[in-house]
Order: sequence, then C-alpha cells, then structure tokens
Amino acid sequence: MKDFPLDEQIAICEQSIQAIDPDENKWYEWIQKAADYGNAFLKSTRSDNAWQPYDINATHPPFSLQNHPENMDAILGECAQWIDHTGLNPASGGHLGYIPGGGLPAAAVGDLLAALTNRYAGVSFANPGAVALEHFLIDWMRREFQLPESAGGTLTSGGSIANLIAVVTARDAAGVHPEEWSKVVIYGSEHMHHCIHKALRIAGLGHSIWRMVPLDDEYRIRPQALQDMIRDDHASGLKPIMIIASAGTTDTGAIDPLNEIASIARHYQLWFHIDAAYGGFFYLLPDSRKKMAGLELADSLVVDPHKGLFLPYGTGAVLVRDVRHLHESHYYIANYMQDAHNAGLGLSPADLSPELTRHFRGLRMYFALRLAGLDHIKSLLRHKLLLTAYFYNALDDLGMEKGPVPDLSVCIYRIPGPPIDANDKNEKLLQSLHADGRVFVSSTTIQDTVWLRLAVLSFRTEKKHIDTLLDMLRTYIPLITAEASDS
Ligand SMILES: *Cc1c(COP(=O)(O)O)cnc(C)c1O
Repeated sequence: MKDFPLDEQIAICEQSIQAIDPDENKWYEWIQKAADYGNAFLKSTRSDNAWQPYDINATHPPFSLQNHPENMDAILGECAQWIDHTGLNPASGGHLGYIPGGGLPAAAVGDLLAALTNRYAGVSFANPGAVALEHFLIDWMRREFQLPESAGGTLTSGGSIANLIAVVTARDAAGVHPEEWSKVVIYGSEHMHHCIHKALRIAGLGHSIWRMVPLDDEYRIRPQALQDMIRDDHASGLKPIMIIASAGTTDTGAIDPLNEIASIARHYQLWFHIDAAYGGFFYLLPDSRKKMAGLELADSLVVDPHKGLFLPYGTGAVLVRDVRHLHESHYYIANYMQDAHNAGLGLSPADLSPELTRHFRGLRMYFALRLAGLDHIKSLLRHKLLLTAYFYNALDDLGMEKGPVPDLSVCIYRIPGPPIDANDKNEKLLQSLHADGRVFVSSTTIQDTVWLRLAVLSFRTEKKHIDTLLDMLRTYIPLITAEASDS
C-alpha cells in the first residue's frame, strides 16, 4: 500500500464504509431476519419450558470471528443453538425464580433505534432531547415515589450499580474524616441484597462497622433493636452514618417498616437508603403503597425497571432526595469537555453517575411504557400479587410449610421437618423441579433452613404457570417423601 498515493490509499480504505454500512435493501434484509427470529422466539415463549437442562461438558459454542463479512443466518443459527434455548429462559412466563421481569418487546424496538441512531444521552450539549427524555423518566419516577422536587437521579444498568451510586453518595454526604473511617457504622438487615455488601466494599467501606439489625418473625428489621444499636454506638464514640432498608427483600419479599426506620434516621441524622430494586414499582398500586409507606422518606432510593416495569435487563435507577449530593459525588471537570460544561444546560446524566458515554437507556423505557400504557403495567403488577396469594393458599393442600404471608409477590415454602433431614428433601425437590423444567423456581437458605421460593414478576406469567407448578409439586413431593422413608 505504501507505494500508492495517499488519495488512493484513502479511497481503498473508504470502500469499507460502504461494505459495513447497509443500504436500504441490506437494512431491510437484516431487520426482516431479526424480526423472523424474534417472532419464532416470541412464539416459543408461549410453549417452551422455562428451564432447558444442558450438559455443561457438551457446551462448547463454536463462536468465531472472520476477516470477511458474513451472512446473518449463521449468526442467528448460533444464537438459537447456543444461547436462546439453553438454561433459564427469563422471557418465559414460567420463570418464577430469582426476580423475573420478562423483557417487554416494545423496549427492544427502543433499543434497536437507540443503537441505530446512537444519540448521546450522557451530556445535554450533545443531545438536549435525549437527556430531557432521561430526566423526564427520572422525574416521572420521582413523582410516582412521592419524592420532593429537590430529588434527582439517573438511569443505570441495574440495581447493583444504582445501589453503589447511592452508597458512594451517602458516604460522601456523611463527610467522614479519613481518620474516622474505622469508626463508621452502617446498619442493615441480614436479608439485604448482597450487592450492597459489594457496594460497601467497593466504596471503601469494607472496613467500617457493619451492624446486622435483628429481624422479626416476618424477616423485617426490628426498629427498636435498630434504635438501641445506634444509641449504644453513639455512646461508645462510634460514627453511625447510614441505615439501609429494603422494600421487598429478595429472599422473602419482606418490606421493612420504612416509616419507623425513617424516624430513627431523622432523629440520629443518618442517611436513609432504601433498596426497592425488587418491590419498588408495586408502589404504583394504592394497596401496596400503604404497605410501603415511608418509601417517600428515603434519602436515596433504588428501583429496577428491568424487574417491576418488565423491561429487558440493563435498566435500573437511583433517586436521591437532594440531587446536589448525587452531583457532589459524581461531577467531573475536564478540559476536553469544556464545550459541554459551558453550554449552561443544567445537570446531565454524566454529572450524576460514574458513566460518561452510555447506552441511551431512556429510549427503551419510553417505548415500552408508551406502547404498553401505564394501566396495563399496573394491572399486571396487581395480577402478580394475586397469583402469589393464589399459590400461597394452594400450598395448604400440599402439606407444605409456608413462610410468612407474602407482602408482595415472593413467597417461601418447604417440605416441613427439622432442617437436618428436611433440607435434603427440599434440595431434592428443587432438583426434580429443575429436571422437569416446565416452570423454573429457585431456593434460598434462611438460618440454615432450605426454602423453595416463588417469585412472580414476569409480565408473561399467567395462572396456568402457577397451576403447572402446583401440578409439579403434587407429582414430586410424594416421590421425595416416599424415597426418604424408604432409605
Ligand atoms: C435484583 C436486586 C438487586 C440487584 O439488582 P441488579 O439489577 O440485579 O443488579 C438489588 N437489590 C434487590 C432487592 C434486588 O431484588
């Protein structure tokens, strides 16, 4: 090449632009193929199992990269064979484990267009419209969660990063002198999500004092115990900074007594963080809102639209009561960003999050909510509560031990008996359910006791999926209890 004149070298390289930038026909062909694939997938979510067992030793996907452009068929074929029919299908209505959501197809259209147009939603200067859309969505949540106008936030990749942002903000707002870090105390429950422990560690609070507040019989923080701990810690010269509560724990869906915890936080001037990644959007329903009273008192609040708004993975959110604290922890100044800083357009997502360039997440959320309408979203959230109550009632006929009456749409249950022999039976039951795979449930261990867990939050989950689970339980429980008494 180096013997060619510069112009010719440039022209040769430029042929590559045309080669990878599709013309109208190519674009339609790609979209058509992807749409056909999507149609087949959507159809399969109505009939396929929620869990497809695989042999981990036989899983060697032949992924490859070639030097030449390839046809889409080969890639779609690999997706079908190695990705979309293996293990857990989170898009299935039969996904009743962990915390489902489903993934509204309308959001995929928003994602497609966000990727195609590649609009910059990090700073207002680059695209005031894209940033305004993200602000609008944050503000919609702020109003729904009844936070004051001083509140602001940002869309994140999920609940873990949202919790990390909140923890960092709380840490900075506490204004702890570096020498005092070992005296810092943080309070939360044993049932707090593990991502917050991760966040505390990442935020440099791993060596601070972590107080696990005792829980009541329904796995909620006991306010009196919390208050006693804080009082004692103050008396012994420690530096309490933050209380972390959950509005819907992952284990049991329990809602901590938020109002009472908020009063304690106020009284001792502690930051009040609420992790509502799972339960948050039930607040849109008046009945659940009563159970979550106090959510609106959070200094920082995490919700996960990819759970409670049924969006695809990759959408979380954090809201901070006084957005200035969020800004204080996440602003930046860089000379190469001076055009953006000087535009005077107010706060941008990049001022409120560790991210600069990021996926334009707002578009998927906007497409999904507009194309669905809020009434259907709320009706389906209610539907999940009803299905959970239906399942909880049906457990009586199965001779299962039931956990607390569900606050939301998670419930725990087990083959009864002392953990020493019942744990094994419950684990076997879970294995049988997985091997069957029609619907998928998960398990948890609470104080050395194994429980099976139902979590209903996929928008596609119908009563028939719960009936299938009940059917499966009716089949496998007698087999397992008989097997145990034989041996
Ligand atoms: C799911 C969940 C998280 C973590 O959120 P990701 O979106 O998975 O990162 C945190 N807290 C609770 C209560 C959750 O349910």
